[in-house]
Amino acid sequence: MAIVNNPALAAFCTAIGSELVLSQVRVRREGAGFELRHANDVAATPQSLRSISVAELRALANHTAAGEFRPIKAAPNLRAGWRCVAANEAELEAALSQLYPGAVADWFAAQQPVPPITHYRDYTARQTGMYRITRMLTDAQAGQMIRACCDTRFCLKRRLWTAPDLAPDEATEKSLIPCLEPCAVLLEFARKAVRIEQEENKPTLTLAPSEVASLLASLETALEHPPAGQREADLSAADNPRRLQLLREKLQGFAPVAETTGKE
Ligand code: SF4
Repeated sequence: MAIVNNPALAAFCTAIGSELVLSQVRVRREGAGFELRHANDVAATPQSLRSISVAELRALANHTAAGEFRPIKAAPNLRAGWRCVAANEAELEAALSQLYPGAVADWFAAQQPVPPITHYRDYTARQTGMYRITRMLTDAQAGQMIRACCDTRFCLKRRLWTAPDLAPDEATEKSLIPCLEPCAVLLEFARKAVRIEQEENKPTLTLAPSEVASLLASLETALEHPPAGQREADLSAADNPRRLQLLREKLQGFAPVAETTGKE
């Protein structure tokens, strides 16, 4: 693809300067081309990294180091230990589209005077069929669900869209890759969140502040140390990490202040 016909790529290449980190990938200019490697490997010698082709990046991006499928390519679990050389701008675009599909176009769109952003209520209002129920979450419930789904544990895209009572992500919180509208994973998670809210026979439980703190600590441990084989996209699993994060969001409002800051 000629860069002259691709203003998004041309603008991105200008923004690179000598080097730029896009989410978890460091892109560095090398002559007329570019070297890509994991941002954790910036200090590694080229010889110590596995050399892979642009075409091989797709397989790299599809699975975690443990072999689990990555439903969101901007998840912070891109494998490290490799380097890839793109001979020119067109190869750079091909490489980035394997690692972060749509990222360059979205980055460029976000620079426009009126970025094409679709907010949560507008997005769910046009859903039909099984996803119609996603509009049933209250503003507070939608905020909890979105914060859980888009947490930096799970996605490094910077959310520019909003919901009532929920501001967009700060530039410093996430990566350069913008999120312009809710993704398929979020939509599915919203559906699950509604189904959870609709469950009947909810037990009523009274917890002491210390017990809430213990539950929060347990959730944090489970999120920090996920079991082997955990499938991120399996929302039917009670220990799905986004479900744990959502429960954490809900409990957070009941946490004693000293416990949330780690002080007694
Ligand atoms: S909706 Fe959330 S989880 Fe999905 S891509 Fe955007 S920021 Fe990431």
